[in-house]
Amino acid sequence: MIALVTGASRGIGAAIARQLAADGMDVAVVYRREQEQAETVAEACRQAGVRSLAFQADVAGEDGCRDLLSAVRAQLGPVQVLVNNAGITRDGLCMRMSRDQFTAVLDANLTGTFLMCRAVLPDMVKARSGRIINMTSAAGVHGNAGQVNYAASKAGVIGLTLSLAKEVASRQITVNAVAPGFIETDMTAVLAQKVRDAALEAIALGRFGQPEDVAKLTAFLASAAAAYITGQVIEISGGLKL
Ligand code: NAP
Repeated sequence: MIALVTGASRGIGAAIARQLAADGMDVAVVYRREQEQAETVAEACRQAGVRSLAFQADVAGEDGCRDLLSAVRAQLGPVQVLVNNAGITRDGLCMRMSRDQFTAVLDANLTGTFLMCRAVLPDMVKARSGRIINMTSAAGVHGNAGQVNYAASKAGVIGLTLSLAKEVASRQITVNAVAPGFIETDMTAVLAQKVRDAALEAIALGRFGQPEDVAKLTAFLASAAAAYITGQVIEISGGLKL
């Protein structure tokens, strides 16, 4: 099996790439800027005994996604498991948010997911099988103050997931979304202490999750055991109430 993980140079994406490799899949490790970190992740995957290479692409760019899929097909083969994990935040209050701040997040998180799905589907339809797992967020399910751009993008990812699941089910392609709460990565490391404290109060399990927690769920959805699951949004948040 050949898997492609976007945003795999660090954080949740890096943990997913490592977990899929541990499960025996060949992995395309996609990064935008951090080549060295992506190469380290690909090397760790190879240590698990699978083929793995790092590929550079900006998922918000139409040509970038098409060229990426061509490069992965040429060097590893057609992608059978797509994990749309790349994502950004540009937090701020709505009344002070610039249009650029809003659209940058929509472009990376939502349009990027659409472009990657569109680029990978011809191979999956031809193979009459495939797995797509989209990273959304608890903020996209429940909303979160200071994140109208991010929550809108992640709610959009949910709508895309539910619709695409219906569109491609007849080809035995499953499409699901994973919705993490607060996970310890660079994305949450920048949160102010009072925001972290408030988050901890709202998490039933009383702690942030680890990237590996999300990786295990994602790997399950990519596995044969999850063949009958499609069109679902699965929250992994330690019982977070936003
Ligand atoms: P992170 O540590 O900030 O890493 C984000 C990754 O996405 C990086 O590898 C980054 O690559 C890549 N990326 C961003 N924009 C990209 C673009 N336009 N094209 C290609 N790659 C791009 O984030 P994380 O915390 O691991 O989050 C991973 C995913 O989980 C995101 O979709 C995020 O929204 C979601 N999520 C995270 C949390 C959390 O608490 N951490 C909670 C809910 C959902 P470069 O570094 O090369 O730019």
